[in-house]
Amino acid sequence: MTGDNYKLDTKLIHAGVSPDPTTGAIMTPIYQTSTYVQAAPGDHKGYEYARTQNPTRTVLQNALAAIENGNFALCFGSGMAATDAVIKLLHPGDEVVVSNDLYGGTYRIMTKVFANYGIKFHFIDMSDASNIKNYINAHTKMIWIETPTNPLLNVIDIAASATIAHDNNLLLVCDNTFASPYLQNPLDFGADIVLHSATKYLGGHSDVVHGALIMNDEDLENRLRFIQNSCGAVPGPHDCWLVLRGIKTLHVRMQRHCENGAAVAKYLKSHPKVGKVLWVGFEDHPNHHIAQKQMRGYGGMISFTLKDDNIEAAMEVLKKTQLFALAESLGGVESLIGHPATMTHGSIPREERIKNGLSDSLIRLSVGIEAIEDLIADLAHAIG
Ligand SMILES: *Cc1c(COP(=O)(O)O)cnc(C)c1O
Repeated sequence: MTGDNYKLDTKLIHAGVSPDPTTGAIMTPIYQTSTYVQAAPGDHKGYEYARTQNPTRTVLQNALAAIENGNFALCFGSGMAATDAVIKLLHPGDEVVVSNDLYGGTYRIMTKVFANYGIKFHFIDMSDASNIKNYINAHTKMIWIETPTNPLLNVIDIAASATIAHDNNLLLVCDNTFASPYLQNPLDFGADIVLHSATKYLGGHSDVVHGALIMNDEDLENRLRFIQNSCGAVPGPHDCWLVLRGIKTLHVRMQRHCENGAAVAKYLKSHPKVGKVLWVGFEDHPNHHIAQKQMRGYGGMISFTLKDDNIEAAMEVLKKTQLFALAESLGGVESLIGHPATMTHGSIPREERIKNGLSDSLIRLSVGIEAIEDLIADLAHAIG
């Protein structure tokens, strides 16, 4: 694979990519085709039908494997399609231990779709990973973590979770969407499957919905590829190309997301009207020491509450920002503001939500890469 031995910043641009052999095009072509001509039945160039393989997708998969330090990657039509494929490794009666603070759509597919197929999910606090052990029984097959978590920015110890998983013959799945491969490589800490919503930082421009899985084990890759091809949630070549283009600048974007994130977090912490500020980079973050161990930086995701802790006060702030656009999603170059309780996490029952610390007034920021002075002025105006 081209560029596999280089540093991340070089791999992001070169890994998996080589000039098009027929034309010399330096950028990977968008192979907009559904099928491939065969010289005789079975005599083909490795491509038969585009649900199964597409050359643009192959290049992206090789690039993603390289930047997550994995042997294999599979791309999907969305992060949720990737999640769907992973859960389809399981059978009725199997159980999964899941971090209780996670993407709302992941909670929804587990509780509203796969629970109907007889799979049981235990949503638990993993701020101390040893708590996972309390929920493992003879039916447990998988541990599912997201770190940092969404939207409470908790940090889960990947290496400690991996040890528990492997001591008990379980698979460890790690949703690495928030950190991106720039900040964290879960396979290096023992995760078996890394999951990405490439819609977010990997794509980086809020112009594509895409998902990916990266793993080291060949048998696991075979099983997941079989599910992918059988169920068909594959991305189109144009979407693969957009993600491929996005990741070429992941390092420069993430560097600025981290700088701006730090500045906004510190500003909010000093603001008299702001209550709690949740950001992985604060030294008084309860799991900052774990973040230091497994992350190379702290990113641009921040959540905060207002001292005037109610929905109406939060709605006032959401209404007043001009640069921070009110929208679901995260990880794009532009700054976004959201209200998890009514937006991304609306599918989690209020009682469950509050119990896990996701209060009604919590506001989530995806800090973009605009000029920091403008971002802070926008927040100053909105919070008042
Ligand atoms: C957005 C997101 C997903 C789902 O991905 P889609 O691309 O929207 O299907 C999964 N996990 C996390 C952490 C996310 O932010």
